[in-house]
Formats: sequence, C-alpha cells, structure tokens
Amino acid sequence: MSVRTNPNLLLEMKKYGDVNIESCFNCGNCTAVCPLTTDNESFPRRMIRFAQLGLQQPLLSSKELWLCYYCGECTKTCPRQADPAEYMATARRYAIAHYDRTGLAKLLYTTPGFSIFFLTLLAVIFGWFMYTTHGPMAGDALSSIDFITPEAAHLVIFIIIIVLGGLWGTVMMVAQVGKVNRFPKGVRLNWLGALWEAVGIEALGQKRYRGECESYTEPQPWYLQKWFVHASIMWGFLGLMAASLIDLVFNITEIKALGDSVPIWYPVRLLGTIAGLLILYGTSVALIKRIRKTDESTSHSTLSDWVFLILLWFSGVSGFGLEISLYLPEEPVWSNWISIFHIAVAMELIILAPFTKFAHAFCRTVALYFHALKPISDTNTE
Ligand code: SF4
Ligand code: SF4
Repeated sequence: MSVRTNPNLLLEMKKYGDVNIESCFNCGNCTAVCPLTTDNESFPRRMIRFAQLGLQQPLLSSKELWLCYYCGECTKTCPRQADPAEYMATARRYAIAHYDRTGLAKLLYTTPGFSIFFLTLLAVIFGWFMYTTHGPMAGDALSSIDFITPEAAHLVIFIIIIVLGGLWGTVMMVAQVGKVNRFPKGVRLNWLGALWEAVGIEALGQKRYRGECESYTEPQPWYLQKWFVHASIMWGFLGLMAASLIDLVFNITEIKALGDSVPIWYPVRLLGTIAGLLILYGTSVALIKRIRKTDESTSHSTLSDWVFLILLWFSGVSGFGLEISLYLPEEPVWSNWISIFHIAVAMELIILAPFTKFAHAFCRTVALYFHALKPISDTNTE
C-alpha cells in the first residue's frame, strides 16, 4: 500500500507550537521512560518519526497522540533537548486543526491576532445579544429560553453553522482513528466494556493519569497533583453543564413551591455550587502553575491554553457572583450585568469547544475507547 508523504509536515507543525524535533536522533529514550506506552501503543518516538518522514495521515489517525497526558517525563530524559512532550502537545493542536474542515481551528491556533479579534467579537456579539434580550430593557426573562426571536435569526444561523462545522470535525476524527484501528469483519467486540473503560474509568476516573503518570512526578499533596487539577476542571465543567441543563429543563428557579429563591441545599443548586468550586479551584491552580512554569507541562503555554483557562475561570467567578445575588435580600443592580457576562462567556466556551483546547476532551475519550476495544474472546481470557 502506498503512503503519501508531506515534505512540509514538520514546517507546518511548527506553526502550532515550539517544536524542536529536528534534533531528535531516534534513540528511543522517550518511549522507554513514558509510563503510558505499551508494546502495541508506542509513543512519542513513533509519532516523532511520522513528522520527520512527512507521514501526515498516519499521524492524524494515531490514537497514541491522544493517550499522552503531557506528564513531561520524556522531555526530562531526552539527550538532545528535543522536547518530545511539547511535540506531542503541538501534534495534538495540529491534528485538531486538520480534523476541522472549516479552517477556524487552524486560524485560532496559528494566528494570535485573529484569535483575539474573533474571541472578542464573539463575546461582544453574545453580550450585546444577551443585553438586548435579557438586559434591563427586556424585563425579567432570564430563566426562559425565549431568546430565539426573528431578530436573532442571523445569530442563530451563525451558531448553527459553527456547531455543525465543529461536529463535522469530530466525525472526521472518529473516522480517521477508527479506520486504522478497526478489526476484521465478523470479530465480536466488547464495545460496551470499552465505552465504560474509556468514559467511566479513564476519562472521568483518570485512572492512568492518576496512577502511571503521577507515580513518576515529584511527590506533591493530592490537591496539587496534576491529575486532580485536571479532573477538577473537567468534573466542575460537567457538573455545571448538568446543573444548567436540569435547571433549564425543569425550570427550577421558577418552582414556586421552593419559595422565593431555591434553597442552597437543593440538589441541583448544590451540584452547581460544588461544580463551580471545583472549576474555580482547578483553573486557578492551573493558571498559577502556567504563570510560574512549575514543570515541563506548564513551561510552554500557547494563547489557546490561556484563553481556555481564563474563559473557564471567568465563567466560574461570574457564576458565583450570580448565585450570591440570588440570596441577597434585594436583587442588586449588578446581577443582571453579571448574568449577561456569565452567559456570554459560557456560550463562547461551548460553541467554540470543537475548535479549541476543549476538543482534547472528546479526542482523548475516542482514543481511549479504541485503546480499550478488544474482541470478546480476549476479554474473557483476561
Ligand atoms: S529521547 Fe529525544 S532524541 Fe531520543 S528519540 Fe526521544 S526525542 Fe528523540
Ligand atoms: S509527556 Fe508523559 S505521557 Fe506524554 S509521551 Fe511524554 S512521557 Fe509519555
């Protein structure tokens, strides 16, 4: 089978991060020390060879790219200072930009000026939209979803196009990785077990990050360990999404039987509060670590890393501001402003998820699924 090569692959990847793998002489130290590499899933050296040889397609179809948690151990032991850990992170950005067919992810990753302009513009559009539909001029419509008015049709169409474009990118990722990792026809696969391992044990439980990766790093209190900071952000975000959806569907805020304001101990409110605390804690620690460059994984920060964390942090802070305003004896003037700000930031985060660092969460779960997928006969003999 012939494989097409891209002689400019390495040059193209350099636009996505601080890549220095020309100096790699393939000693294999990095793969030997990586706590996550296995006989069947070898990285990062194999991924580096793909870039050096211009093997774009094998690189984009690798589940191994997403199995790395950026612990930085490989970088510490590289005799050529080729920084394989940062190469893996850069390759993931490159892959996200290539799964996305709209070109938006590429622009956001490689053109800081455009990225700042676009993100600001989107925030202003969402903010203005929220102000005109839910602001002081629009009365008390905060808990309803009656914002899809004919006047908002342009914005709704724009959002639909972005969301569809983002979804198409995620389909491309699954198709490319799935094509390389497929089993012969007729083999019965334990897909349910693989799904549980990928989503429950690995993505939510962080088993490999917590176990294999963390055992290699300097001892730290559990609340500062990388897996916990990472998990706090993820659990917090999922918790906030769940609380917001339940609130929206059941209109909890409006249930009169619960009194003027829903008590703080009410399950959905409690879920939102705990999730907000987790997201605020996780993003604050992650930002401080990046500012201080505490280890290999925080020593190279791209604009996309900062934007992602800062938006999440603002969404957490504004969410708490909103919650506090609900329990004050009188609704303060700023509560409306803060809710406009909170929803604008949250909309930006969610709508741009497939094009930004957020896409990692999805791509890694897909890779973990293929990593765990085995024929039923193999599962029974384990
Ligand atoms: S340890 Fe460094 S030089 Fe050796 S294969 Fe890995 S990246 Fe290349
Ligand atoms: S950063 Fe850690 S997990 Fe990723 S390739 Fe290097 S050693 Fe392996």
